[in-house]
Amino acid sequence: MKNRYKGLFVSRKQNTRLFSITRILFYGMLTYALLFFAWWSNLQYTQMTQIEKANKQILEYKAQLSKDSTAIADLSESPQYQAVEKSTNLRKYMIIAGAAVLFLTMLTGFWYVEGGFRREVALANQQRNFLLSITHELKSPIASVRLILETFRKHELSREKTVQFADRSLKELERLNQLVNNILLAARVENANQWSEEKLEMNELVEDILEEVRSKYPNVRFSARFDGTANFITADRTAIATIAFNLIENAVKYSSPEDAEIQVIVRQKRGRVFFKVADNGIGIPDKDKGRIFEKFYRVGSEDTRKTKGTGLGLYIVKQIVKAHNGSIVVRNNSPQGSVFEVTLPVAN
Ligand code: ADP
Repeated sequence: MKNRYKGLFVSRKQNTRLFSITRILFYGMLTYALLFFAWWSNLQYTQMTQIEKANKQILEYKAQLSKDSTAIADLSESPQYQAVEKSTNLRKYMIIAGAAVLFLTMLTGFWYVEGGFRREVALANQQRNFLLSITHELKSPIASVRLILETFRKHELSREKTVQFADRSLKELERLNQLVNNILLAARVENANQWSEEKLEMNELVEDILEEVRSKYPNVRFSARFDGTANFITADRTAIATIAFNLIENAVKYSSPEDAEIQVIVRQKRGRVFFKVADNGIGIPDKDKGRIFEKFYRVGSEDTRKTKGTGLGLYIVKQIVKAHNGSIVVRNNSPQGSVFEVTLPVAN
């Protein structure tokens, strides 16, 4: 196996073990450093107390030797005695402050490193899930098309059957094409400043996409509302079309094929253009709303698992929206389903 593919095939067990060993070593070192520093600070503090005591005793002996009764009685008020107390107290405070700063620094370091470990493990698991899901998504259209081509070679088929099989192959290839495009786009959206800028009219762009999806999903009921005759934005045409297409496709995918109703709205308010896609589908649980825009994230429900997907679509959408200084929110629809709303700045 070529070296560049090796990292992809490290098993979950190997990965978890590697993280556990690194973690144990890190925490072992951290504990050792903390204990060592606690012991060292304590030692310094005790030595300082002993030095203070010794210095005070010397002053007491000196006062006793002078046989001056007032000097003995007022020893604790004498400038030398107070100077000893002041300088040792200062050093003690320095030891305590040093220990506190070090402890807090280590604690902060621990917090960040632990967060980093967790993120790494989550990302590694997400990537593995992604690989598992795309392996299936890549292999199943290839297998179908191969089977159809073999059928063509072996059998003499009627015209009707040939067209039927050809249509099926085209559908499978379209799915494959979309998957590959999404993977490439996900890699592309991570590079900054790659989008071109042109003045776009949102109503027209959304109308074009609706025309496409209407012919692709003849059973779905689409409705559209465009407030204002024109809603201009400055953006990359392909990028904005990707946003609209992904949101509408998701609305179809996560709705019941029999009674899907999808509403698309474009409107303008206070210098922003709003693009909204509302469906009456399975909806998104509140706990997942914040996570669906993460790379490879898919809601873990039974309904979602029935659909095909990679968890890349909304990640791509969010990155494009961000690159165009916009925002995206998701809400529950009433009585059921989801509403995705993208906001972009109006063109100057
Ligand atoms: P994919 O659809 O390929 O799984 P996405 O990134 O497009 O990936 O979506 C991430 C997840 O968000 C989906 O797996 C699904 O659980 C959820 N989701 C997205 N859009 C909708 C929607 N309109 N209704 C319900 N769930 C949705």
